Amino acid sequence: MPDLISAFDRVANGGGPEGVEFAERVPTERWFAARFARLAAGNRQGGFIALLLDDLTEQRRSERIRVDFIANASHELRTPLASLAGFIDTLQGPARNDTEARERFLDIMEEQATRMSRLIDDLLSLSRIEMKAHVRPSGQVDLCAIVRQLGDGLEPLAGELGVKVVQTLPSGPAIVAGDRDELTQVFENLIENACKYGQSGGRVDVSVVAAHDRTGPSVSVRDYGPGIRDEHIPRLTERFYRVDVDASRKHRGTGLGLAIVKHILTRHDARMTIDSERGAGAKFTVLFPSASAVPESAEDENTEKDQRLASS
Ligand code: ADP
Repeated sequence: MPDLISAFDRVANGGGPEGVEFAERVPTERWFAARFARLAAGNRQGGFIALLLDDLTEQRRSERIRVDFIANASHELRTPLASLAGFIDTLQGPARNDTEARERFLDIMEEQATRMSRLIDDLLSLSRIEMKAHVRPSGQVDLCAIVRQLGDGLEPLAGELGVKVVQTLPSGPAIVAGDRDELTQVFENLIENACKYGQSGGRVDVSVVAAHDRTGPSVSVRDYGPGIRDEHIPRLTERFYRVDVDASRKHRGTGLGLAIVKHILTRHDARMTIDSERGAGAKFTVLFPSASAVPESAEDENTEKDQRLASS
């Protein structure tokens, strides 16, 4: 780092305090701020220079995520908006007296308007969850009751897609500290995704496993569809990340579902793992902390994949 060395040399040769920012590109991109200042030698021999090194990586990363997010959200809203504006123009002009075209255009306009409102609902959901990210949920929720209720609620969608949802539940309840509506949203998203993207498999398994020994309760959602390639897995919970944009649009996706899931699970101190083999479907597993878990040990058990998910 030549800038760093020259700043040090200037300070060592009697210059005033200096600050330098620098970045490392390998193995991963990291940013730092270094500040040098001479210390009074007092009655010791020689001089001393203090170096204060700040790691700016997280700060830079979150600035970049925020900027990307605003750009992505605007782009996602602009597309249906442009389409609406185009149809309004056509209806006011060339298609003014064309009844048949008007009906067709109005249908498309309705679809685009619904897409915008879905997007806004998801954006609001995300910001509501982010606002309470550091407040631990206080309620007690039975995961089996949530899954059972969702089975009924999602039956029309599953039926429409020709998918059979099979539940495996323990004999007793599986209680976790949590917010019922938020956890319902998590499993609704995962089961819906499994039905939509795993439709070709015709079957989705939802299993609740009760807590045992030092392991908390878990819920897994498995489909038998095309699966997800390895390189996509760490990025799935990023906002607006979609493996196949057309498939997501076809299923009325916004690309925010798994980002919302990740934020809710972080607030619940729960972990999600994604296992998939190409052609053999995907399995999303949510593991809740054990009631007796010591936070440090839970952290030690984190896999590399979890950490990559958590930092996305
Ligand atoms: P979307 O609104 O697009 O469904 P999500 O955040 O819920 O957004 O999911 C992000 C992407 O992850 C989806 O667009 C899809 O490409 C992929 N995905 C999610 N679940 C599955 C699954 N069970 N099988 C295959 N791909 C999936």
